[in-house]
Amino acid sequence: MVGARVAVIGAGPSGLYAAAAIVASGADVDVDVLDRLPAPYGLVRYGVAPDHIKMKSVIRVLGRPFGPGEVRFLGGVRVGDGSDGSIPLSLLRDHYTAIVHATGSAVDRCLGIPGEELPGSVGSGEIVGWYCGHPDHGRAPVLDTPGVAVVGAGNVALDVARVLARPAEEMAPTDVPDAVLDGLRGSAVRDVHVLIRRGPQHVKFTPVELRQLGDLADAEVVVHDDGALAEPLGEGVSDKRQRANLDVLAGWARAHPASGARRAARRIHLRFFRSPVRILGTQRVTGVVVERTALMPDGRVVGTGEQDTLDVGLVVRAVGYTAEPIPGLPFDATSGTVPNVAGRVIDLSGTPVRGQYVTGWIRRGPTGVIGTNKHDAVETAASLLADLPDLPEPPHPDPDDLARVLSEHGVRPVDWSAWLRLDAEEIRLGRARGAERVKVAELAAMLEAVYAADEAGPASVVSVAEALSEGRRR
Ligand code: NAP
Repeated sequence: MVGARVAVIGAGPSGLYAAAAIVASGADVDVDVLDRLPAPYGLVRYGVAPDHIKMKSVIRVLGRPFGPGEVRFLGGVRVGDGSDGSIPLSLLRDHYTAIVHATGSAVDRCLGIPGEELPGSVGSGEIVGWYCGHPDHGRAPVLDTPGVAVVGAGNVALDVARVLARPAEEMAPTDVPDAVLDGLRGSAVRDVHVLIRRGPQHVKFTPVELRQLGDLADAEVVVHDDGALAEPLGEGVSDKRQRANLDVLAGWARAHPASGARRAARRIHLRFFRSPVRILGTQRVTGVVVERTALMPDGRVVGTGEQDTLDVGLVVRAVGYTAEPIPGLPFDATSGTVPNVAGRVIDLSGTPVRGQYVTGWIRRGPTGVIGTNKHDAVETAASLLADLPDLPEPPHPDPDDLARVLSEHGVRPVDWSAWLRLDAEEIRLGRARGAERVKVAELAAMLEAVYAADEAGPASVVSVAEALSEGRRR
């Protein structure tokens, strides 16, 4: 066999770490990275908060394999069930020896409480997608009331609370699209209530991110802990991260007691032992009923019956994510992952599905920071490389065959040099605003920049945009 062909589906950190690990092995393998969007970097581009500029610098590492042309980028290619311009997995199997799925967990988990379906009740994916300029989330959230509730005690809840509490001027040097900056400038938000169902010793925040809440120019953190932090909670806690969180929280509780005078234009209220039980409103969200909780010895959280109402116009669920099943692969709906052993996909009876691999959140669930994906990807790549000698050559290994088939499906892939044109356009827009870059958020505008130098541009732009937006409507 002349060189194996591997497709990595998903150009986020997990997919790109996997591609890099396969290339670094020196094996005789051609690697293509496919993504449904015309831009690479997945959650680094569309999940890491815009004001975490340093964290985004990891793209310099992630983009490296594309530079020397070792890895091909095929943007704007959506793998799905074959409908609406998506490319079925069965078709890709005809062209690749092995496939690594790195499509993450993009679906917001729900609370399952009344009123959750009202306008103004959103998953964090929607609001993070908006401020990160994701083409699927162009609609601005309603920021016309002083109160907002954010449910959850993970880093996503912190990101959302922080961005909503920052003055718009602090976001101007970031890559947020101009429309997002305008939305933040017009925001009426004054009080962001973070609803945390357990105690201060149970939060999932990382201390660096938690501390950052205290550094905002005109917002203060108010801790509502029902006196829990006055107890020596740290003594029974061995985990370093939890102890560091407790120190930060106790410091704030002493400095700005919940009953103290307010000194900033905005407040982030950390409300411990509180869970939303009902979202109020008829046409849209007008409030949320919050119940005091208690922790049972077995770790369960139960309601105490003591309830309060917060006046809020927006409720954001930041309670974790799950994945959509991948058509053609087994799926464990409880964990929201594809069953696997060391990255090798297995079916529900435990038998390996030949030539199929997973990495990142679709493999282990939505946990860990960006670097966590590297370890995961290296292990998946090792499994794949060990299996390669025994995997059969695909019926159509010639890349030209794939290009022809994609074209028959109305898909014109965005290659690396085309993405670099969009990249350059975003950097140019950034220069005008004093930022490193400003994102182009609308799909048609992204594709216009991608095909800027292309004679055959407009017609293709329309067809690719149509194919992609068809996918979004699914
Ligand atoms: P997460 O860390 O798993 O946190 C989810 C939170 O939602 C937990 O506090 C959980 O509380 C709470 N929750 C779940 N169901 C709930 C319910 N029904 N009612 C109330 N609360 C509920 O998830 P995440 O914040 O989405 O973050 C995902 C991953 O991305 C994490 O590994 C995170 O560290 C990472 N991330 C990192 C950064 C960064 O490094 N800056 C930024 C963003 C995300 P319980 O503990 O009680 O279940």
